[in-house]
Amino acid sequence: MNIKSAKFIKGITSDDKILHDSKPQVALVGRSNSGKSTLINTLFGNNKLAKISKTPGRTREINIFLINDTHYFLDLPGYGYAKASIKVAHDLNNVINWYLFNSEHCPRVIVLIDSFVGPTKDDLKIIGDIEKAEKEVFIVLNKIDKVKKSQRLNRIRILTEQFSNYKVLPYSSKEKIGIDELRKEFLL
Ligand code: GDP
Repeated sequence: MNIKSAKFIKGITSDDKILHDSKPQVALVGRSNSGKSTLINTLFGNNKLAKISKTPGRTREINIFLINDTHYFLDLPGYGYAKASIKVAHDLNNVINWYLFNSEHCPRVIVLIDSFVGPTKDDLKIIGDIEKAEKEVFIVLNKIDKVKKSQRLNRIRILTEQFSNYKVLPYSSKEKIGIDELRKEFLL
């Protein structure tokens, strides 16, 4: 699966006409530090993309990327950042809640879980809420390289059983695991 083009389009905090064209939307959801920016870089083979989304001020925005001129990938603000002020945490939760639960948009949703840490309370809450909202959840077991090779299969089995209602894919930007599979799943 080739990436022919990957462009940052804009950051938004509320509805935008771009979300109303007919291209499919894929939303990336995960706590702050779950590796979303790095995943965007590896998935789309362009190191500059995520740098744009890391610009201060954009952390509260949904960053929209256009891939192959056919799909929008939406990088949602990372939740659960312990040092975020109450106002910032409130603003970014509002943006996440608006897009996922109170808008008319119907994205497929990728939730990043840190394979080593396992799902946090916030991860489980958002997964449950997305399911209740009847949106498809796809779990990326990110940073699988952090689990020792001898323990990986067992770790993947435990997490796959925990998320048996969903499709689950082990992924590592560092060791380049799962990249083609994720492209195939979301870009065909
Ligand atoms: P974001 O806050 O979700 O955008 O997370 P970042 O992409 O900025 O990554 C947070 C930290 O995790 C950085 O130190 C990355 O280098 C690291 N990281 C990201 N992906 C991986 C991975 O696949 N494996 C490992 N070991 N570290 C990763």
